[in-house]
Amino acid sequence: MTNDVVIVGAGPTGLVLASELALAGVHPIVLERLPEPTGLSKALALVGRSVDLLERRGLLERFPAVGPPVFAHFSMLPLDLAVVGDLGVRGIFLPQAQTEEILLARALELGVEIRRGQAVDGLEQDPDGVTLTVHGQPVRARYVVGCDGGSSTVRKLAGIGFPGIAPARLLRLADFTVPAGVAGEGHLDLPTGERLPYFISGVVPLRDGYFRVITNEPYPAGFDRDAPMTVEELQGSVQRATGVRLPITGTRWMSRFTDATRQADRYRAGRVLLAGDAAHIHLPAGGPGLNTGLLDAFNLGWKLAAELHGWAPEGLLDSYHTERHAEGARVLLHTRAQGALALPDERVASLRTVFAELLQDAATTRRLAGLLYSLDTRYDMGGGQTHPLVGRWSPEIDATHTAKPMLFGAKCPGWEDRVVTVPTGDPEAMLIRPDGYVAWAGSPDDGALEPALRRWFGRPSA
Ligand SMILES: Cc1cc2nc3c(=O)[nH]c(=O)nc-3n(C[C@H](O)[C@H](O)[C@H](O)COP(=O)(O)OP(=O)(O)OC[C@H]3O[C@@H](n4cnc5c(N)ncnc54)[C@H](O)[C@@H]3O)c2cc1C
Repeated sequence: MTNDVVIVGAGPTGLVLASELALAGVHPIVLERLPEPTGLSKALALVGRSVDLLERRGLLERFPAVGPPVFAHFSMLPLDLAVVGDLGVRGIFLPQAQTEEILLARALELGVEIRRGQAVDGLEQDPDGVTLTVHGQPVRARYVVGCDGGSSTVRKLAGIGFPGIAPARLLRLADFTVPAGVAGEGHLDLPTGERLPYFISGVVPLRDGYFRVITNEPYPAGFDRDAPMTVEELQGSVQRATGVRLPITGTRWMSRFTDATRQADRYRAGRVLLAGDAAHIHLPAGGPGLNTGLLDAFNLGWKLAAELHGWAPEGLLDSYHTERHAEGARVLLHTRAQGALALPDERVASLRTVFAELLQDAATTRRLAGLLYSLDTRYDMGGGQTHPLVGRWSPEIDATHTAKPMLFGAKCPGWEDRVVTVPTGDPEAMLIRPDGYVAWAGSPDDGALEPALRRWFGRPSA
């Protein structure tokens, strides 16, 4: 049996992509190597444009903690978002494991089939489809999307290059508990009398009684990253970073990560596509990973569904690479820059001071916020359109959004099987893609609406 789409990996990117495909009438299956979710969380928050998309899918009310960023920063230099007026940027302040639970529940409601304990270890493609191998058994699909994280097996098996910068820093992370009386207001009160302030020391209190510590040191030559991490290794690293010894009573998770920065050279190789960390890895500076992966998924879902339904115009699926590779490169750019600004070096300290001064300017803050939260995205919608809204995130319109293309304030005979039309009485009309970006805006008779409909949503039906 040939499946339409097989998604490899039930992380946040894979789950959102699966839901988007299901909403567009395609029923993907998801193969996940873990028998059960681990319950552990890399990310503690999801911030940026993808939150607006979750809202347009009617999902935001499922997340308990939504609001403006608690601490907006560029490499820990505070960004005063209040000075630039309301940018509308929001975050979901929830450990990744809980975010994934909500995304999983949604995918299951939409009828997505998730097969757990299925590690993909083989991939071959031909002109008609892709054959994956799981435990020696073939799984056939017309398209495969690798959402299988930074060391993506799909990416490697598809022969997609992953160029970038090798690690220069080694970061260690642990979620740990401390003895009673140590957790203070704003700091840990160590038994030695020393105080470890939250955030700037690398220690963050979590909601459930645990603390997270992250250290950042030069990457040691010849370091064996496969060696299991021990509490002693962590303690040594904390001591070098802060000069103190943590009074750890237990850990539930210890891990290492690096500042390696890499991006897939192609997001599409024939019938194989990549999304999320499988397509890009970077330092989690400011935590843009989830936002970027989810925006990949929202961009890809409707395009892949259009291809499978047979109405995709030429080049639609390739526009996924064009649009999202460029956006991914921007994320790599700012996370690398933030990593560089955090290096312990006197010259970098001067650079930080200069940067902090620049951040006093509202225009600089606005520009950086645009970069950090993907608010500045502008896709090329073609046709030389000059309307300022075209290519940008669509303004909020008082109407129910769907996961379909929407045309506000105009009619589109021939496309109404694909495009939802909404009368507005406004002289300005607007065509919005399912991922929320404006494909065309203007007067209904400006002659540019039909080319935009053809470019993004195919030929009119007879
Ligand atoms: C310390 C740290 C802190 C972070 N903090 C933040 C933050 O605050 N905010 C933020 O937005 N981002 C943060 N990130 C980044 C964020 O966690 C990732 O960007 C996010 O998990 C990527 O999601 P994904 O679905 O693309 O990949 P993953 O979450 O890696 O999911 C991939 C899935 O694929 C499965 N898989 C892998 N190989 C196979 C295979 N061969 N067959 C089948 N299944 C397979 C895996 O088991 C996994 O379930 C942080 C990262 C780190 C390391």
